[in-house]
Amino acid sequence: HLGNETAKAELGRATWKYFHTVMARFPDKPTVEESATLLSFIQLFQRLYPCGECSEHFRTIIDEFPPQTSSRSSAAAWACHVHNEVNKSLKKELFDCSKIGDFYDCGCAEDAAVTDV
Ligand code: FAD
Repeated sequence: HLGNETAKAELGRATWKYFHTVMARFPDKPTVEESATLLSFIQLFQRLYPCGECSEHFRTIIDEFPPQTSSRSSAAAWACHVHNEVNKSLKKELFDCSKIGDFYDCGCAEDAAVTDV
């Protein structure tokens, strides 16, 4: 079964947008619990990613490059790096991770940390 490459690519684009925006909104100085929550989210995100082949591939990337959850900048840099690992394997252009800064804007006000619930 060949699957549907268009649907797979669309899912990927939407998911990466969401994934990088989560990192862009993670606290600069997270608590130990917030860092643990992000780590747990990344692990579940990998396990539940709807494309099985992608999920399996992403697991090997996370095994090689463990999630960095000690701050917003380290989480954003890590996510950029692992996305580039996927890009490499798909022979896509690499993203310049030094430009990740304000690239992912949630459109929400910079009021409270998202993990304050
Ligand atoms: P995408 O890679 O979807 O990127 C979207 C946009 O994000 C780009 O246009 C660019 O503006 C920006 N961007 C690009 N690189 C980065 C970066 N490093 N950091 C931040 N922003 C960046 N597809 C498969 O065929 N096989 C797989 O095994 C596979 N595994 C995947 C695993 C995961 C976890 C995810 C989320 C997706 C996976 N995909 C896989 C889908 C694939 O990564 C792409 O999303 C899809 O091919 C569409 O690619 P695209 O060229 O539109 O850009």
